[in-house]
Amino acid sequence: MIDKRKNVVFDDTPRQCPKCGGKYVFQGAGRYVCENCGNEVYDDFGKVRAYVDEHGPSPGIVIAEATGVSINKINKFLRQGRMEIPDGSGEYIPCERCGEPIRYGRFCPACAAYLTKNLSAVLTSADIGEKPKRAMQGKMHTEAFLRKDERR
Ligand SMILES: [Zn+2]
Ligand SMILES: [Zn+2]
Repeated sequence: MIDKRKNVVFDDTPRQCPKCGGKYVFQGAGRYVCENCGNEVYDDFGKVRAYVDEHGPSPGIVIAEATGVSINKINKFLRQGRMEIPDGSGEYIPCERCGEPIRYGRFCPACAAYLTKNLSAVLTSADIGEKPKRAMQGKMHTEAFLRKDERR
């Protein structure tokens, strides 16, 4: 007998329904529905997205506490360009090359252009971040927000 529950991966991609053993079908934006019984689950990105959808832009630490998704993972979503920090936040993430603040991604546009020109890195559009247009005073926390193109 194979213990089907061992195949359930709740941490990230849900694969098998714990209720009926059916397969989960990806619905987009981190949401999965069991093709057999309709049981609905979210992966870590889906949990974060659902929280921000409901509560609006929120500090990463608050999202982490509410969803149980680690702050490191939420930061990874920012680096992957799946989340962004809105303009006017008090804190951003640093460009991995020059340390300039960016709202999402891995490199600021200038470094991305430099790296691409010198062929020292193959960058995808998700790696290239955007620098904040304005910084708001008096806010001490990072706000994580969804990219518009992730909304469906
Ligand atoms: Zn099911
Ligand atoms: Zn840079």
